[in-house]
Amino acid sequence: MQEIQRTERVTVVGAGLVGSLLSMYLARRGFQVEVLERRPDMRREAIGAGRSINLAISTRGLHALRQVGLEEEALSHAIPMRGRMIHSATGALAFQAYGKDESQHINSLSRAWLNKSLMTHAEATGRVRIQFKQRVQHLDAERGLLEVLDEESGAVREVRSPVVFGTDGAGSAVRRELVSRPGHVAEQEHLSHGYKELTIPAGPGGAFRMEKHALHIWPRGSYMLIALPNEDGSFTCTLFLPFQGPVSFASLDSPERVVTFFEEHFPDALALIPDLEHDFFHHPTGTMVTVKSAPWHVGGRTLLLGDAAHAIVPFFGQGMNCGFEDCVVLDECLGRHARWEEAFEDFFQLRKPNADAIADMAVENFVEMRDRTADPRFLQEKAVEKVLLNAFPGEFLSRYTLVSFSRVPYRLAYEVGAIAGGIVAELSEGLTRAEDVDLDRARALIHERLVPFVKEH
Ligand code: FAD
Repeated sequence: MQEIQRTERVTVVGAGLVGSLLSMYLARRGFQVEVLERRPDMRREAIGAGRSINLAISTRGLHALRQVGLEEEALSHAIPMRGRMIHSATGALAFQAYGKDESQHINSLSRAWLNKSLMTHAEATGRVRIQFKQRVQHLDAERGLLEVLDEESGAVREVRSPVVFGTDGAGSAVRRELVSRPGHVAEQEHLSHGYKELTIPAGPGGAFRMEKHALHIWPRGSYMLIALPNEDGSFTCTLFLPFQGPVSFASLDSPERVVTFFEEHFPDALALIPDLEHDFFHHPTGTMVTVKSAPWHVGGRTLLLGDAAHAIVPFFGQGMNCGFEDCVVLDECLGRHARWEEAFEDFFQLRKPNADAIADMAVENFVEMRDRTADPRFLQEKAVEKVLLNAFPGEFLSRYTLVSFSRVPYRLAYEVGAIAGGIVAELSEGLTRAEDVDLDRARALIHERLVPFVKEH
């Protein structure tokens, strides 16, 4: 079994969010890191950063950045979002706080800024070299051989590396090679919805034209629109719609239909999106997939992390957060073990149940966001949840709070969240005002069901 040599050269495939951060963690441990990235260098050439324009970073992601000294800088570019702003079809607004108070918030951050910053900081360690326009086509995990295509010259070369990390995203080429091996599996479930990004530009002088400190949601049942604020005063909107069906990307096939659809369902947003028709027909329609693969490693030679190992749908805002947490956990495993294989196996055992749990919660949250957030009963339950979070600090914990504002394993958040949700539903029965919730009964239920469960785990 291979010993971990602290000065050896390792290869990371993909300089996206996770690959760039992972390189920093590896450099900190003394490794020489070669990163192969298929895209051009986005700091020098104008290219999209891929996936979404901005994303929400919360406690897990911030913790990972803190370990390498980057949290403060990231937060200085982020916009706190303290809750959901729900837009009804009539244009009426309702705000639902995410946590017990304003200190519990998530943060909107530019993906491009974050990716560029991570690459620059990784290179600044002096131990990381990122090579761009280098597409990994094949991997021979046994022999530690990568076949790499230079996207500019068209030349194909072999790169030898005893240890390879696959952080090449949801469509991972490294995972494809792993799955061709006996005993390796990868289930992929594509969502029947796609997404389209649209822009609400800033107002005069960079003014925000909607509430700045919120994640805006227009829940409409089988589809929805959301918007996250950007540093320059604009908002990036994302329309989630089925690919096929009566209301779908297929049915919105002309500028007139798109405008009529927005007039009917998102009139307040329509007034703020001047380039709707252009953007709708020029921006790509994104796809979303859940990938559950296993195992994530071949002995001590290759390991998958981030979306390459466990892509999830974006409705809990946790894909990157989970991938960043992978880096923290792998780093701890490298600190505990002398051999690569043991570190990789430990990492897989620790992360797999948690990656599966957040994958399932993300799918469940899609239904909650697009449908339940418009339901008065749901609003009531959220209000009761907030009363309980404040009345029983440390004893009552909600799923959202545990996922977004703590670092407890996702699996535990899933299970505790289910118990907490049951308690809230029971206490909300027949209630007209959240403030009237029976706190004695609440205490009894929490002590009977939640506290023992948390103590046991
Ligand atoms: P990626 O970001 O996909 O990076 C992979 C990198 O590998 C890329 O640079 C790619 O060019 C490179 N690459 C690919 N193939 C090869 C190859 N063969 N050779 C060399 N290089 C290769 N997460 C959150 O935490 N919060 C959010 O709010 C959030 N919002 C999202 C919204 C949307 C619409 C989507 C789709 C996702 C969202 N996510 C969010 C999830 C998040 O985008 C991903 O989890 C995150 O990007 C994963 O990072 P990664 O580095 O693993 O993969």
